[in-house]
Amino acid sequence: LMDVIKLREKLSLRVGGLNPPKPVCSFAHFSFDKALLEAIRKSEFEHPTPIQSLAIPAALSGRDVLGIAKTGSGKTAAYLWPAIVHIMHQSDLKEDEGPIALIVVPTRELAIQVYTEAKRFCKVYNINVVCAYGGGSKWEQANELKNEGAELVICTPGRIIDLVKMEATNFLRTTFLVFDEADRMFDMGFEAQVKSISDHVRSDRQCLMFSATFKQKVERLARDALCDPVRIVQGEIGE
Ligand code: ADP
Ligand code: MG
Repeated sequence: LMDVIKLREKLSLRVGGLNPPKPVCSFAHFSFDKALLEAIRKSEFEHPTPIQSLAIPAALSGRDVLGIAKTGSGKTAAYLWPAIVHIMHQSDLKEDEGPIALIVVPTRELAIQVYTEAKRFCKVYNINVVCAYGGGSKWEQANELKNEGAELVICTPGRIIDLVKMEATNFLRTTFLVFDEADRMFDMGFEAQVKSISDHVRSDRQCLMFSATFKQKVERLARDALCDPVRIVQGEIGE
């Protein structure tokens, strides 16, 4: 127990929720397969960042996660690698259905950035990734979703709702849901859309939420969307 407390202190982690896992400080100690470890090695990352050291074991154990850490702390991989592991664990990879994992981000720029990162790791497993954001062609995105049978979709909130309404995709097999930059999602006025997505994705999904700041609305969404989460605050966090 002392070791865990010291380790958390060293990594500047504050942890809440029932039975949180221990921080894991080496990639080799995550339960990742060889292919993912090799892809990570190629990224030249030496060890998990502090938020990754706790969010990843929590997510891999099936827990919901609320992760708060400042920009640049490595939050993308903290949900992306567990999303990929989750997709590879599904036995039914039928191609004509909606995403198994859905990553919701506030802006087109961030969607493209996460998509670029996701493609590097998804190509290792032949996972189809589609990026759907406002400002891009709705028809092109609809066709991509229909044709590629995307297992992983990275989207902005308004656009994915439109695409579901158009029946270009659906949430029927979505069992892994991520809200990234939740604070900015609210700043940009996407509260209703975010709530709607959370309500329409099946209740037996695993859900992860990340934010760079604390906000009351982030707390409220966490209460609504997350079930018994491991709560992680890493480093000094502003309002
Ligand atoms: P955040 O979403 O918290 O702002 P990002 O996920 O965008 O942070 O990561 C910030 C940078 O750190 C990116 O360039 C990313 O490739 C890099 N990075 C992520 N994980 C690691 C790691 N374990 N070791 C070194 N660099 C990392
Ligand atoms: Mg980020």
